[in-house]
Amino acid sequence: MNNSVAGDADLANLRNIGIAAHIDAGKTTTTEHMLFYTGRVHKIGEVDDGSTTTDWMIQERERGITIVSAVTYCSWRDCRINIIDTPGHVDFTAEVERSLRVLDGLVVVFDAVGGVQPQSETVWRQADKYRVPRIAYVNKMDRIGAGFLAVSEKIEEKLGVKTVVMQLPIGEESSFTGMVDLVKMKAIVYSDELGLHPAESEIPAGMLEQAEKYRELLIDAAAQFSDEIMEKYFAGEEIGEEELRAALRKGVLSLSFVPVFCGSSLRNKGVQPLLDAVVDYLPSPLDVPPVKGVTPKGKEEERLPSSEEPFSALVYKIQSDPFGKLTYIRVYSGHVRSGAAVLNVRTGRKERFNRIMRLHADHREEVDSASAGDLYAVVGLKNVKTGDSLSDDKRPLILESIVFPEPVISVSIESATRAEQEKLADVLEKLQEEDPTFKVSSNEETGQILLSGMGELHLDIITDRILHDFGVDATIGKPQVAYKESVRRVSEGDGLFEKQMGGKNLFGHVRISLEPCPDSSSFEFENRLPEGAIPSAFIPSIRQGVHDSLETGVMIGYPLIGVKASLTGGEYRDMESSEVAFKIAASMAVRDALQKNESFIMEPVMKVCVETPEQYLGEVIADLNSRRGRIEGMDSLPGGIQSAEALVPLSCLFGYATDLRSLTQGRAVFTSEFFRYSEVPPAVQKEILDRVYGNVY
Ligand code: GDP
Ligand code: MG
Repeated sequence: MNNSVAGDADLANLRNIGIAAHIDAGKTTTTEHMLFYTGRVHKIGEVDDGSTTTDWMIQERERGITIVSAVTYCSWRDCRINIIDTPGHVDFTAEVERSLRVLDGLVVVFDAVGGVQPQSETVWRQADKYRVPRIAYVNKMDRIGAGFLAVSEKIEEKLGVKTVVMQLPIGEESSFTGMVDLVKMKAIVYSDELGLHPAESEIPAGMLEQAEKYRELLIDAAAQFSDEIMEKYFAGEEIGEEELRAALRKGVLSLSFVPVFCGSSLRNKGVQPLLDAVVDYLPSPLDVPPVKGVTPKGKEEERLPSSEEPFSALVYKIQSDPFGKLTYIRVYSGHVRSGAAVLNVRTGRKERFNRIMRLHADHREEVDSASAGDLYAVVGLKNVKTGDSLSDDKRPLILESIVFPEPVISVSIESATRAEQEKLADVLEKLQEEDPTFKVSSNEETGQILLSGMGELHLDIITDRILHDFGVDATIGKPQVAYKESVRRVSEGDGLFEKQMGGKNLFGHVRISLEPCPDSSSFEFENRLPEGAIPSAFIPSIRQGVHDSLETGVMIGYPLIGVKASLTGGEYRDMESSEVAFKIAASMAVRDALQKNESFIMEPVMKVCVETPEQYLGEVIADLNSRRGRIEGMDSLPGGIQSAEALVPLSCLFGYATDLRSLTQGRAVFTSEFFRYSEVPPAVQKEILDRVYGNVY
């Protein structure tokens, strides 16, 4: 057991960082190398032979991708660094969002050849949303066609941010041997195989002029944050390394610019300077604004990252395995000792921290308390979900929760026997606690259970875990698209509810108008009645009735989206009207309005980006066209690679990974990401209706 508890004084020396990038840019490799150079592991894990420390789930090793953002930590100089290796595949954006919510800083890894690829762009936008300070690392400088300055420019151009070039690569491709450090104005050269002993030397004569030029740009950026540097610069005086770093740090923390570094993690070059940059430029928990939340009474409150404050923490991940449940938390304020209990604000119940651990991928190190600013995993919490807030029971605080996208695809699952059915129900509950983008529903008519998620791969992984990790005997159906319905016109419906019940008359009467509202991804509600026409106490019930009945469309029964409902008329009777009566009347009015309207079916459309060697481009495009795809753009990348971006209906993408592989001999890669719902073409709508009703309607 490790008894040292990080005091608040140590918080300045803590970094909670994430490493994010487009798939295959080298996150896992870079993380592994960080663990190696900091002495946390003694052998470098290799992604390609499936022995890495962070990609530990069986499914990840087999697929060579990072799904679960494993948390691990290491020490560098006088800092402790918590690292979350975030997933690169878009089906797992929720994992990325969740980790961004609890991180203080981010290292974004770019491929020196691929540049700013779609997924790095997505992650970047998410990091903007959470205002996460970040540094950029241009990896794979050893690859043919690597271009450091070109990637830095692409970052400015595509991501709309100012970059500051911090290093210049020495040599390129296979002769890449190190970098010029523009703060120290020294060369760092790697000569030993494992890159353990980078040597500092003078800048190669041929690079001096270029180095001076970029150093000037760097000083210019720093001077915006330090009057002393500004003065020294104009006076032509020497500027010290430390003051330069301090000013650059201010710029990074205020999101004014992003410093750019280079390296080749696989070839053991550039990782130690990157670790230095994490310490020098990324925030400690003390550098980020105090966490904000609301009390259950609705009052806003802020908490400082101090162990003296009341305890508050956010559950950002739950992980169940057949042996138990781990709850991952970020503590924002206060502290709690192992064995003590805290309040789960959502349930109003106390939960006991039986054991508190720091995690290193799949092994655990026990500590005796959890305190402000740090990340932990806890054993013993029973009734918790991802996104829950934990607090001191006398000072409850709800931290802003995370909003997750709606699932767009589902598969059916059927257990083999009655006994298996219970086991399945149990497993499904665990998996839902873990993953808020995974939903389970059952069809009341058929009794069939539907699993819904963010993409084909997402559901593949989940069903794989159900069948293999948890050993449930079940059959899985074909993937199905989560269709929605919407309305084309304005229509008004009438709902009158009047009934005798228990000797009492129940009465409610409303008129609801429905109209298209294309930009809305859910439904909107407006009360257009004059004050007092219906007592305001009944309005929430009417809203609820509208909401509930829009869950089932009149065409096929899919939920409606892109609809605005307005309350346009109604009456009430003093002694007879009730909440229930109005809720039912509202549902009746919506049904009536839907009957009078014209509905249509909407389908999820994905943004697909393919990167392929030139010679296959024609076939890739033709294939996308045959999938009802619309090509949105094309681009040439170094090394004879072409990229194409297209909008393709999800229903036409089933099995795309396999088809693309055979079309391009496995040489193309693609990503797909939910873009929006759009109306299906008439022929497809007819097909769907035929499938559901037979062709007899
Ligand atoms: P992730 O998907 O971002 O986690 O990327 P990985 O770390 O799994 O790396 C993807 C592939 O790129 C693997 O085959 C690595 O061996 C390779 N790779 C990683 N870093 C480098 C590098 O610096 N140079 C080269 N040439 N390949 C690299
Ligand atoms: Mg990886």
